[in-house]
Amino acid sequence: MPSPGTAGATLLLNATYEPLCVVSSRRAIVLVLAEKAEPVDSAADVVHAERVSLPVPVVVRLTRYVRVPYPASVPLSRRAVFTRDGQVCVYCGGSATSIDHVVPRSRGGTHTWDNVVAACRRCNHTKADRSLAEMGWALPHPPRTPSGAAWRLLGTRTVDPRWRDWLGVPESVSA
Ligand SMILES: [Zn+2]
Repeated sequence: MPSPGTAGATLLLNATYEPLCVVSSRRAIVLVLAEKAEPVDSAADVVHAERVSLPVPVVVRLTRYVRVPYPASVPLSRRAVFTRDGQVCVYCGGSATSIDHVVPRSRGGTHTWDNVVAACRRCNHTKADRSLAEMGWALPHPPRTPSGAAWRLLGTRTVDPRWRDWLGVPESVSA
């Protein structure tokens, strides 16, 4: 079995390369040894398991496709909103430091994906509890609800930089 000290996390991809979830590296090694998954990307460290030695997998892909029911929506968090909007203020393109409700909450605006955007402090203060029409401002595109496994992972946990290629996240997203 894997020796101690290999307790990392491994990104598990479906047979279609779609990100599924994060498993322990130990679990990933078991899957690889059982030929239920194959390594896609590995660390420099080598783990000795059973009679073989293999690099610690960072990303593995299932050999058989599994159908997974996903939750309807991605949890709304500050981190996930910043990720969706590329860490920039949707109004001026400056560095985002806060979350703005497009329709202010005082005017019945909801705390939902389609009403929440990343904003800089200055725009947030300037806009205050006014509507976009009153400000004469416009959004580059309507705020959307992100979907898919990659977003589910991004919204809830720290992302290993070596998973980026598989999650399709921009370089600017901090891990
Ligand atoms: Zn701004």
